[in-house]
Amino acid sequence: MMAAARKRKSEALGDETEDEERGDRRRRIRKTNKYIGAHVGIQGGIWKAVESSAALGAGAFALFLGSQRSWKRPALDPAAADRFQEKCSELGFDPAHILPHGSYLMNCGSPKDDVSEKSRVLLVDELSRCSRLGLRLYNFHPGSSLGAITTQQCLDKIAAAINHAHQQTPAVVTVLENMSGQGSTVGGRFCELRRIIDRVRDRSRVGVCLDTCHAFAAGKLGCNLDRHEDIRKGNIGLSAFRDVVNEPRLDGVPLILETPGRPGFQDAEQIELLYSLCEKNKE
Ligand SMILES: [Zn+2]
Repeated sequence: MMAAARKRKSEALGDETEDEERGDRRRRIRKTNKYIGAHVGIQGGIWKAVESSAALGAGAFALFLGSQRSWKRPALDPAAADRFQEKCSELGFDPAHILPHGSYLMNCGSPKDDVSEKSRVLLVDELSRCSRLGLRLYNFHPGSSLGAITTQQCLDKIAAAINHAHQQTPAVVTVLENMSGQGSTVGGRFCELRRIIDRVRDRSRVGVCLDTCHAFAAGKLGCNLDRHEDIRKGNIGLSAFRDVVNEPRLDGVPLILETPGRPGFQDAEQIELLYSLCEKNKE
């Protein structure tokens, strides 16, 4: 609510207020050392993700690197990539707090040869896009056995795809997301992520993204259903998120909302709520 109100004020008063807002956002981030944001759209140009994240009062963001519908995408426009990087420095977003999300089409562990091959190609393409955008992290869903191969075989295929992509691209860290264990997806158990990591040759280029919804569905609740819900509305209570935003080990780590949002309680309001839970913000 507050961020939306601030946005309207800035439209009326122009640049000066916008600078003030940017200052407020940066001060809050510095004070808390928490980088909270949302998954934002890239419609109209990839740099729009940076602008909309600033308007949300965010300190971090996630984005897709291209269309979710096609395996083959037009090459990244160099002018758009430059503009993205310029916007990041202008609006104060460090690459360490930007976490691109992999295409949902991809299944590096697929038992189908054509799908696993297309996924390997797409993974290389996505990591190359990250490099061109000056980004250092790349988060993706490990994959699914589709029930046609064993979990171990699926995990090995995923590790092989990662090793291949690392050879083809420089520096970007592949971040494995834990899953809810729905259907035959792998990565619902931490030991499965461990098996992939064990087989990745360059350990400096592999990390883990903890999805709280997926962990809750896979573990404590055990329903395995991937159902994201707004902060305060779902089965994970507000106290759990208070713990998250006050956890010193999560300082400097991008914390990304993947919540559906409702009228009056969209990304801006949920980011605002999470920052309001930070004790350091109250000091
Ligand atoms: Zn995800």
